[in-house]
Amino acid sequence: MNILITGANRGLGCHLTQLGLQRGHVIIAGVRSKAALSVEMKQLKEQYGESLHFVELEVTSESSIINAASEIKAVVGMLNAIINNAAVLLGKEKFIEELDMDDVLQSFEVNTFGPMRVVKHCLPLMRMGEAGFIINISSEAGTIVNAFPTNYPYSMSKTALNMFSERLKEHLKDKGIRVYAVHPGWIKTDMGGESAPGNPDDTANGIYDIMEAKVNIYSKIAFINFLGKPMPL
Ligand code: NDP
Repeated sequence: MNILITGANRGLGCHLTQLGLQRGHVIIAGVRSKAALSVEMKQLKEQYGESLHFVELEVTSESSIINAASEIKAVVGMLNAIINNAAVLLGKEKFIEELDMDDVLQSFEVNTFGPMRVVKHCLPLMRMGEAGFIINISSEAGTIVNAFPTNYPYSMSKTALNMFSERLKEHLKDKGIRVYAVHPGWIKTDMGGESAPGNPDDTANGIYDIMEAKVNIYSKIAFINFLGKPMPL
């Protein structure tokens, strides 16, 4: 499969890139700057050569995504899957009285509108009628009944991402493209922190098992976890 992964330079995106290459896929790694590739990305390029391509992709910028889409078309022709992974976690501990509204706006710009922009401009690279996947990396924080008095920007942006995924799923259901909003678990990354119990490799393997049809998914809704189990809305 030709797979576009946003936010690939570090964290879960980096593990998805590595595991995808190990499993024989061609990975188009969306990074914010090709001039600032992580050590891991440079090593993967040395190891996997032409199976790994980098595109500059800033998810808040429509023109950046349009340029990325035309570069992807020129380099690999088409996509079988898009993994919308890039996200930010802002204003987590703030109560409503002290909330910076810029954090709310920026969270929606990256976490919700980012995947919408990417799908808008990269969907034409996918072949309708052929099997394909759009995976929007979500979070259990987006579950509505979730007893937290804070975390407004992130939670709300992920709830909206789940809604986008559900709508998109309906739009694409007769066209072969399956759409999931996937909770990756609480995992060790810059965002998840050192005390997170989960290993991003397990998450990445779970996501590829879903995409390679190695797990049966019985969920009626798009929001599932990385093992393919339904998540509460
Ligand atoms: P990290 O903070 O470790 O990495 C985030 C990645 O997103 C980086 O590569 C970063 O790029 C990229 N990114 C951020 N903003 C933008 C932008 N505007 N345009 C393009 N790329 C951007 O996060 P994780 O790897 O932990 O998170 C991956 C996904 O998993 C996210 O969707 C997150 O919400 C979700 N998630 C994570 C959990 C966890 O425990 N870690 C729990 C639940 C969900 P750069 O390196 O250039 O900054």
